[in-house]
Amino acid sequence: MSTAYDPGNIFAKILRGEIPAEKVYEDDDTLAFMDVMPQAEGHTLVIPKSPSRGFLDADPEVLARLIKVAQRVGRAVKTAFEADGLSVFQYNEPAGGQTVFHLHVHLVPRREGVPLKRHEGGMADKDVLARHAERIRAALRQE
Ligand code: AMP
Repeated sequence: MSTAYDPGNIFAKILRGEIPAEKVYEDDDTLAFMDVMPQAEGHTLVIPKSPSRGFLDADPEVLARLIKVAQRVGRAVKTAFEADGLSVFQYNEPAGGQTVFHLHVHLVPRREGVPLKRHEGGMADKDVLARHAERIRAALRQE
């Protein structure tokens, strides 16, 4: 199996504006948007704009910028959904649970006693995702 970066992956298409995403944060290096198959309400993904396949091939400087944004957006996600906790996931290669081969960090707000939904379970309603994205953008504006 090739482990080269494939620019045809779905997150690269989002970065090029070829397919839509519910964006919550963007800067020169980083983009955050709603996961279309959320494992909990508010499930957000943070990706670098530079083309890394995963954690292991990424430039450490890219990782450093990514994790700073993930922390900032993670705080906003937790606030926006009045969560008790936040799960941060990052998967590499199919054996590691990765399905989209552009580096990304999952931010999943958690409530006491509520189990996660299945990874890549059902598609969320588009309008619901749009409302959730607005909640997170509002929390970011409150900082
Ligand atoms: P993984 O590669 O296993 O860490 O997860 C990829 C994640 O991307 C899954 O949680 C999917 O629900 C999510 N996903 C797949 N396609 C899209 C898309 N077009 N927009 C937003 N999220 C997506």
